[in-house]
Amino acid sequence: MSEPTSSGSPSTSGSDREGPAATPADLAGRPLVFRNATVLTMDASRRVLNEADVLISGDRISALGPHLDVPVGTAEIDATGGIVMPGMIDTHRHMWQTALRGYGADWTLTQYFVWNYLQWGKCFRPQDIYAGNLLSAIEAIDAGVTTTVDWSHNLQTIDHAEAAADALEEVPGRFVLAYGNIQQAPWEWSVAPEFGDFVARRFPGGNDMLGFQMAFDVPPASPDFPEKAAFEVARELNVPVTTHAGVWKVTTDDGIRLMYQHGFMQPSSIYVHAASLSTDSYHRIAATGGSASLSTESEQSAGQGYPPTWKLREHGIGVSLSMDTSVWWSADLFSAMRATLSADRAREHLEAHARDETVTHHKLRAEQVVQWATRGGAMALGLDSVTGSLEPGKKADVVLIKNDASPVMVPILNPYGHVVFQAQRGDVHTVVINGTVVKYDHRLVGSDLDKARRVVGQTVEYLKGQLGPDAWHEGMHPEIPETRVLDNPYTYTYTED
Ligand SMILES: [Zn+2]
Repeated sequence: MSEPTSSGSPSTSGSDREGPAATPADLAGRPLVFRNATVLTMDASRRVLNEADVLISGDRISALGPHLDVPVGTAEIDATGGIVMPGMIDTHRHMWQTALRGYGADWTLTQYFVWNYLQWGKCFRPQDIYAGNLLSAIEAIDAGVTTTVDWSHNLQTIDHAEAAADALEEVPGRFVLAYGNIQQAPWEWSVAPEFGDFVARRFPGGNDMLGFQMAFDVPPASPDFPEKAAFEVARELNVPVTTHAGVWKVTTDDGIRLMYQHGFMQPSSIYVHAASLSTDSYHRIAATGGSASLSTESEQSAGQGYPPTWKLREHGIGVSLSMDTSVWWSADLFSAMRATLSADRAREHLEAHARDETVTHHKLRAEQVVQWATRGGAMALGLDSVTGSLEPGKKADVVLIKNDASPVMVPILNPYGHVVFQAQRGDVHTVVINGTVVKYDHRLVGSDLDKARRVVGQTVEYLKGQLGPDAWHEGMHPEIPETRVLDNPYTYTYTED
């Protein structure tokens, strides 16, 4: 165990708070030092520090290195046998859908669209958006995801939007509300006066704990490009646009071309999935400095296209990771890193084997996907000066991976590989966000999980009632296409002469 204690180093002698601090409350309002960890800084030179300390003062990281002298009264967490790394960043998640966690595990993208966009998404009331967001936000910080973009595309009214923002403000994490509304065209909701009022009222600027984006897609459409009006609102408000781009047969090169021709491709633009695109579109993204948000489990399982890791690297396009939606998957970025690395390698091997060749050296390494899960997200969100790496002066978004009860934490030889292929969210011991301890010793601090459980339960009951038992069951269990078993040439009947 690693009970927090006041630091025993000589510089702290004379503290009136010496001795073991028995509860997480004792961590509040004091400097905090992680002692004796393997530290993945994710700084520009990707330094890895062994047996090192990380000191947090106020909301910022103040020092890194071995045997740090710390101020009197500093709380201490023994990180021996653990890995300290920057908080992870999820750049695209439809948090409201967490209220129906796992419901669509067997869906394709088509079934998702029919259920959410055409049939049942409109049933979600403001309190249902709130419930999904609250649970989702708590799930994120529990998993060591310190910043999450809420790709909130069911904000049918301003009351829905208020509910989404309320939930994000209630949980001590870093969030970005990406405002969208699948029930209306973006050139309609974005120009409504109440939308502008909402943004001005709740997002006055200068708050790096709750940012703002606009979220809408550009499907192949009329050449008069009606989405132009929404992009103009984003430009007027000076907020980034996040858009599902390169989703097989849904959003195509057409959308990228129109955005480019009208000057709406910006360094702050985020292209979610970016899978089914031509070389020409990747050139346009690279030339304008935007980045891609890869949701590998989603691309693989729902059918947006193959996760385009090798194409993005070929074009020098920035990459961040995301989990898309808990209606299929989860908020677990360990899973995202693992799936992304595996997908890249699987494709490389499969294509080589088709040429009768053997891959002897992998191009994509664990270190790179850890970078995508941390600093890549910060860069995509324009938060690189705030979070994404452990460097003095940055805000303290810090995760300790440590689990003394797990055989998987021994030995730690290749820390990047350990994070990607060995660790899991159950190994997240401590999470600090903006200098505040929000999880300690595997337990959440300052989040009301009981409340989230209660309100999500109410939402599930309500939605079940709206659908009725048949639609509820059919929605969760789509028909299975028939599988034809091949004729087998080796089948015979043995007869004795
Ligand atoms: Zn999505």
